[in-house]
Amino acid sequence: MKTVLLLLTLLTILFACSHYDPDYFQDKFNKDINIKSKVPIKIVKKFETDLYPKAVGMCYFAPQPHIEVLESYWLESSDIIREILIYHELGHCALNRVEHSQIKIGLFSTSIMYPQIPHEFEYLACKNEYLEELVTKHIIPISACLFQLQNIKR
Ligand SMILES: [Zn+2]
Repeated sequence: MKTVLLLLTLLTILFACSHYDPDYFQDKFNKDINIKSKVPIKIVKKFETDLYPKAVGMCYFAPQPHIEVLESYWLESSDIIREILIYHELGHCALNRVEHSQIKIGLFSTSIMYPQIPHEFEYLACKNEYLEELVTKHIIPISACLFQLQNIKR
């Protein structure tokens, strides 16, 4: 019973307030990693380019760094997913991470810069490590937190 209540409380906290303005997440990003990025972010119905039909967010470097997120995806996403998406795009546009990490531990991507958005659960459980990886640009990230999650789920 306690577990159910705890879960309900957690879900309520997760979904109670949703933030439409992408700059809310950029402010959060700035606080989380202690920088002052001010990349213009627009919510769009269609991207400037058709090159990546499966993308839900884009960082463009020219003429100036700027981000577009797809409105249809934005509207159906929780705040946590919105946060991960904006952090990923800011990883490109504000931290100049041009590459996508391909490294996984079991089912879990070890970087916000993985081409697919990590699951909310793994992100929330290991957020500190994801942020550390994002800032320090580990070539081979070693994530104790993800290894632990892997063991809990087995
Ligand atoms: Zn990307």
